[in-house]
Amino acid sequence: MNVLIINSGSSSIKYQLLEMPSAKIICLGTIERIGSTQAISTYKTDTHKVEKTYEIATHKSGLERITSLLLDTEMGVIDSTEEIDAIGHRVVHGGKDYVDTTLINEEVKQKIKSLSPLAPLHNPANLEGILMAEEIFESAKQIVVFDTAFHGTLPIKAKKYAVPNILFEEKRVQAYGFHGTSHKYVSEKANEYLGNKNTKLISIHLGNGCSITAIKDGKSIDHSMGFAPSNGLIMGTRSGEIDHSIIFYMVNTLGYSLDEVNELLNKKSGMLGLTGYNDLRDIEVEASKGNTDCILALEMNAYRIKKYIGAYTATMNGLDAIIFTAGIGENSSLIRQLVCKDMEYFNIHLDDAKNDLRASSLREINKKDSEIKILVIPTNEELEIAKQVYTLLT
Ligand code: ADP
Repeated sequence: MNVLIINSGSSSIKYQLLEMPSAKIICLGTIERIGSTQAISTYKTDTHKVEKTYEIATHKSGLERITSLLLDTEMGVIDSTEEIDAIGHRVVHGGKDYVDTTLINEEVKQKIKSLSPLAPLHNPANLEGILMAEEIFESAKQIVVFDTAFHGTLPIKAKKYAVPNILFEEKRVQAYGFHGTSHKYVSEKANEYLGNKNTKLISIHLGNGCSITAIKDGKSIDHSMGFAPSNGLIMGTRSGEIDHSIIFYMVNTLGYSLDEVNELLNKKSGMLGLTGYNDLRDIEVEASKGNTDCILALEMNAYRIKKYIGAYTATMNGLDAIIFTAGIGENSSLIRQLVCKDMEYFNIHLDDAKNDLRASSLREINKKDSEIKILVIPTNEELEIAKQVYTLLT
């Protein structure tokens, strides 16, 4: 069965075509920096590897670009769109109704749309991807895997907010949790590596969106994002945790409209708001040249992560390993170093030489005598989604 996975992030699309159940990768690639004139498109098969920079304004044009690569007469891997049997879509917010992998129908699409206000950077892009894929790959089964699913195990004391009960019971105001496919995948890999299922793990997913999850005995028990994928860590363009009084101050005293505040907190804050750049690679280069905004933003970013490590260690009453994953977690030795610095009290000891080594597979980067393992685990949301698609269809 040929399964195409479409994983739309806030400004990127990752895709993989896999033969299931062997999980053989037929081709894979990414479109990064969607919305800019310098979007990077990569495409890789057994025989070809290309990276090009284009202007790619929308997710829609990104998907068109991917389709033309798949069908390309020289580098392509299919002759006709009918050769794709199923498409697995990552959808960020499934709300309370959708926790399982689901075949797409009109009702599911309506639900994804209705949840857009809760995931404004993602659900609209995810839905656009689904609509486009339905048009292009008419004969393929379309399936969604929700990011919220892995967090269905959050205990009520972690997911309920201290607001009147009616909001929880009747209006579904609660923490849902995100990046579930990634946290599930890397925590399972960590448990395999540690040879133990009954572990206390902290999984730190640092991409354009960033989140951190406490995982005990394989189950998500606390998570930094909440009702929408906006709380918690400092992200590319999202502020993460702020005192909600700021919103009222901005509206009531500074004269912002609510829409403006929403836009500002989701699209103009985080690392972008602090430095003028949202890509960590640019921020690291600027910091190395002495840009004080960039240096401070990196420190603030790591400081916020440290606080969650402390909180979740307390929540689980212990810790076996921390996991760094996703674009920043896998690639930025600087962020890992800033997070793990001065954590002796927690028995977290980073090995600087191992931290600086680059590799594309699971690696342990702690010192030998560190009680807590520090693992870098490349996430593979696409493979996890493909497995779930295959299981559903068979
Ligand atoms: P998404 O959340 O869209 O899936 P990714 O997981 O691809 O995002 O992560 C994107 C982030 O990873 C960007 O901020 C990018 O700067 C960062 N990143 C990618 N490669 C590197 C690198 N070599 N060094 C530092 N940061 C990197």
